[in-house]
Amino acid sequence: MDASNLHSLDKPQAKDLDKCVHCGLCLNACPTYRELGVEMDSPRGRVYQMVQVATGAAQIDDSYREHLGLCLACRGCETACPSGVPYGRLIEAARAEIAVKHPPPFAMRVAYRYLLPSRFNLKLAGTVLWLYEKLGLKSMARSLGLIPKGLRDAEALAPPMEKPFFYESYGKTFPAIGKQKYRVALLGGCIANLSFARLNDATVRVLQRNGCEVVIPASQNCCGALQVHAGMRDEGRALARQNIDAMVDAGYDAIICNAGGCGSTLKEYDELLEHDPQYADKAKRFVAQLKDVNEFLASTDWNKADLKPLPIKLTYQDSCHLSHGQKIRLAPRQLLKSIPGLQLNEMPGSDVCCGSAGVYNVVHTDVSMQILDSKMSNVRKVDAQYIATANPGCMLQLRYGAQKYGTGHEVLHVVEVLDRSYSAGGK
Ligand code: SF4
Ligand code: SF4
Repeated sequence: MDASNLHSLDKPQAKDLDKCVHCGLCLNACPTYRELGVEMDSPRGRVYQMVQVATGAAQIDDSYREHLGLCLACRGCETACPSGVPYGRLIEAARAEIAVKHPPPFAMRVAYRYLLPSRFNLKLAGTVLWLYEKLGLKSMARSLGLIPKGLRDAEALAPPMEKPFFYESYGKTFPAIGKQKYRVALLGGCIANLSFARLNDATVRVLQRNGCEVVIPASQNCCGALQVHAGMRDEGRALARQNIDAMVDAGYDAIICNAGGCGSTLKEYDELLEHDPQYADKAKRFVAQLKDVNEFLASTDWNKADLKPLPIKLTYQDSCHLSHGQKIRLAPRQLLKSIPGLQLNEMPGSDVCCGSAGVYNVVHTDVSMQILDSKMSNVRKVDAQYIATANPGCMLQLRYGAQKYGTGHEVLHVVEVLDRSYSAGGK
C-alpha cells in the first residue's frame, strides 16, 4: 500500500503523540525498560522516536524498527500514564506504517494470511502436529537433541494439540442448564480451536451453568489480533468484517470471548473499520455486544449456588490485554473469590507482562525469557500451587515458566477453575 493512502489510524497521529509530556512515570511499568534499562526501549523513548519520524526529523530505519519491535505491546505504560497517551493505538499504528516499506517476515505473512484465517489449513496443520506428538516423534527429536539450542525455548512453548478440535462444535447450539436467561455467541479463536479445545469446552459448560444458551456461529473466524499487532491491518480488517457478518444483529445478549488478547482487538473493531462506510456502524454495534467471559459473568448474578468447595491456594496473573487493554481487573478476582475454600494470594506485579505477548516469546525469545524469569520469581514469593489467568498465550508462557523453574504450579484459565468447582464431586 502507498504510504499516502494509509488510513488515519495506520500511522501515529499527532493528537495522540502530543499527549506525552515526557514525565517518565511510565518507565517502571515497562517490562522492556525494566529488563534492558535503555531509554529507547521505554514507552517515553518509543513515543519520542515516533514523534521524530512523524515530524520528518528521523526516518524509519533499522534502529526505529528494532526498538519498536522489542515492545511487547502489553500496554502497561497506558495504565501508568497520567496524561492518557493511547500507547496501544500508537504502537499498532507505527507498526502499520513500518509494514508499508518493511513487511513482516515471509513466514509470518504466510501464516497470518493463509494459515490462521483458514479452517481447512489450521485443521490440517493441527492434525500433522497431533500425529507428530502421538507417534512419539516430538519426544524423540528432543531426546536425540535434534532441536537446535537456540530454538529449544521456542519449541518447548509450542502448545500440544487437543483432539477433538473445537471446530467440531462449530454450528452447534448448547442449551442452558436450568432456566435460560441469556442467548450468547462464543468465539472459538484460531489456534485455540486446536490447542485450547478443552478450555473452549469448559467455557461452554460454565456459560450453560449460568443460564446461557451458547451458540458457536459456524462462519466466525480468527479475530485478527496477531495481524493487527504485526502491522497487517488490511488482513485484520477482512477478518473483522467476517466476524461482524457472522454475529452482529443476530439477537445475542452478548458475544463472548475467553482470550484477553483477542477480546482487546475485537473491542477495537470500531477503530479498525471507522473509514469503512459499510461496516463502521455495524462495527460499533458488534463492539457494544462483545464481552470477555469474566466481564460477562461478573456482570450477572452468577451461579454461586452450584460452586462446590475447591480447597486450593491460587495466585492470579493479569492478562495484559484484559487488564491494560480492556481495563478488567476485578471481575476475574471476584469470580475466583466466590469459589468456596479457594484462597487467592496475590503476587507482586501481577499486572506486569509475563513475556508471552502474542508471538513475542518466539520472535524475541531471549528478552521474553528474561521477563519470564522476573515473573516466576514473583510467583514464588506467594503461597500457591495454582496460577490462574485469562488468556491462552499467558497460560502457555506460565506453564513453560513452571516447568523450566520446576515450581510445580498448575496453570489454569479462570473459567477452568470455575468449571472444576461446578464439576467437583462428579455432578
Ligand atoms: S507516555 Fe505518559 S507516562 Fe510516559 S512519559 Fe509520556 S506522558 Fe509520561
Ligand atoms: S507496551 Fe509494554 S513493552 Fe511496550 S512500551 Fe508500553 S509498557 Fe513497554
